[in-house]
Amino acid sequence: MLLKDKVAVITGGAGINGLGFATARMMAEQGAKVVILDLAAADPQAAAARLETEGLGKGHLGLVANVTDKASCEAAAAAIVAKYGRIDVLVNNAGVTQPAKFLDITGADYDRILDVSLRGTLYASQAVLPAMVAQQSGAIVCISSVSAQRGGGILGGPHYSAAKAGVLGLARAMAREYGGSNIRVNCVTPGLIATDINKGKIPEDKRQGILDGIPLARIGEPADVAGCVVFLASDLAKYCTGVTLDVNGGMLIH
Ligand code: NAD
Repeated sequence: MLLKDKVAVITGGAGINGLGFATARMMAEQGAKVVILDLAAADPQAAAARLETEGLGKGHLGLVANVTDKASCEAAAAAIVAKYGRIDVLVNNAGVTQPAKFLDITGADYDRILDVSLRGTLYASQAVLPAMVAQQSGAIVCISSVSAQRGGGILGGPHYSAAKAGVLGLARAMAREYGGSNIRVNCVTPGLIATDINKGKIPEDKRQGILDGIPLARIGEPADVAGCVVFLASDLAKYCTGVTLDVNGGMLIH
């Protein structure tokens, strides 16, 4: 098992069809105690309980936490350390998107999109880093997007692209600052993956054109991303820090 007895925290992990929950499943399969953080409306406790009912081990935890709220992240980290005594892995997965043309982006749109992906990555990482520094070990994986690399994905607007590009910069800077504490920080950049974030939003007449641009000729599945996150979180990747791992079926080869 790649993550035996590791304590792995996943933000925005409660959506059963999402990348976060697929990662939670795979990490639990690999022996981790998984902590799912999400908004109250997403019911992170139910998601954590589901891991156990799916036969993926016991002792997982669901906590309500809003990544845009620093105190909420700190309270979650304190509860995790109180229960498990350590935090080995953080996956900065929470994110929201919005299709928008450049001139139509309002200040409120900008705040909402950047706050969850970028400020959320800052606050959740700040909350877990003291425990990782005390242990002198840890792995943080940040979910960016192909949108950051190609100036827009399929659905998200320029502010989403900017938020996800910001995540790459923040993660690389963390990798530099915390390498000396044996804490690795890496990113994955998913292409188009079928989850609730884009469900029903890809017009049928655009679908074939999108597939034509993907050498592997299919839209991604959440488990495609989860496998790469597990790899980066595990000791298989123990000499990788500051990397960006593309998970896009070849949509962007650069
Ligand atoms: P999703 O909507 O299923 O998951 C997002 C989760 O974030 C939800 O559970 C939501 O409740 C949670 N969340 C939103 N605001 C939050 C907040 N303030 N605090 C805590 N949690 C919050 O979508 P997904 O596709 O699984 O997205 C997961 C991540 O992957 C996102 O960062 C997204 O931008 C990124 N991503 C997705 C794709 C794709 O094609 N699906 C591609 C590239 C990147």
